[in-house]
Amino acid sequence: MPRMLIGLRSRKHISPFELVRPASLEAACRALSALGRNVAMAGGIDLIDRLKLGEAVDRVIHLSGVRELSGIRRDGDTVSIGALTTHAEVISNPLLAEVLPDLPAIWRGVANPRVRHTGTIGGNLMSAMPHYDAAPALLALGASLVKAGTLLERVRIPIAPHQRLLAERSLHPIISVYLGARLEGGKIHSARIAVGCCHAQPATADLPLAGVSVTSLGADAAAIASKAAASFAEPLSDGLASGSYRRRMIEVLTRRLLIKLGSQP
Ligand SMILES: Cc1cc2nc3c(=O)[nH]c(=O)nc-3n(C[C@H](O)[C@H](O)[C@H](O)COP(=O)(O)OP(=O)(O)OC[C@H]3O[C@@H](n4cnc5c(N)ncnc54)[C@H](O)[C@@H]3O)c2cc1C
Repeated sequence: MPRMLIGLRSRKHISPFELVRPASLEAACRALSALGRNVAMAGGIDLIDRLKLGEAVDRVIHLSGVRELSGIRRDGDTVSIGALTTHAEVISNPLLAEVLPDLPAIWRGVANPRVRHTGTIGGNLMSAMPHYDAAPALLALGASLVKAGTLLERVRIPIAPHQRLLAERSLHPIISVYLGARLEGGKIHSARIAVGCCHAQPATADLPLAGVSVTSLGADAAAIASKAAASFAEPLSDGLASGSYRRRMIEVLTRRLLIKLGSQP
């Protein structure tokens, strides 16, 4: 019998559950806090997998009708992304293209078309998988989460006139590195790297680059990257790579990103 079939047959049947479709944030929060084991569902990619693997729940709270969780809009000096926003919407959204064009450009390389059209930013963040991209990308941008109880409502990203986000995903899912940098008059105002796939949760390091001329970054990139890589806790060792390889790659990929920023500010 082909291996694939054996794999599928070894999965358990999904245990029965009640499907709840709230039409407001308030109703969704109420349903989630009701007695029993209740779980939110956005695109369902990760959740359905978990249910197939035997996780039992009393209620699945399907969030698709909760309007408060949708849309991408300007909110003061932030851009506010609803938790139900799909990866594909991030790529095609005109406001993001205007205020933070690096994010949609990077997101074209995340997952595959089917996942991009179904999977949501909220589901990606709340799954909290070390190799997922939303958390490190958003951490590099200094984003914050808006929550209602256990429900993720929106993500707020500060808007700056010249905010860059660069990503190195060439070794994903062994490691991903995101560099967020705010530039002002040809100099760096602030810069942060966020590293995915290397620890249980994405880890960040603020780079001491305030006031440094962007175009001079290339010359010091190796030293800055080496210091940054050394500042992280010991990366995971698993079947994909050792912790020491991952640390070395944090350094290599950070250096690449700094050189790239210096050459394309
Ligand atoms: C083939 C494949 C390739 C992939 N490649 C990538 C990749 O390159 N990079 C990457 O980052 N990801 C990748 N993914 C992961 C994908 O992005 C996630 O599966 C997807 O984003 C999950 O979103 P969802 O809406 O389906 O979440 P769901 O399955 O609906 O939910 C996931 C979890 O989040 C909780 N949840 C959902 N919404 C909320 C909310 N608003 N508030 C509180 N809790 C909530 C659910 O209860 C559940 O625990 C890949 C997945 C597949 C299958």
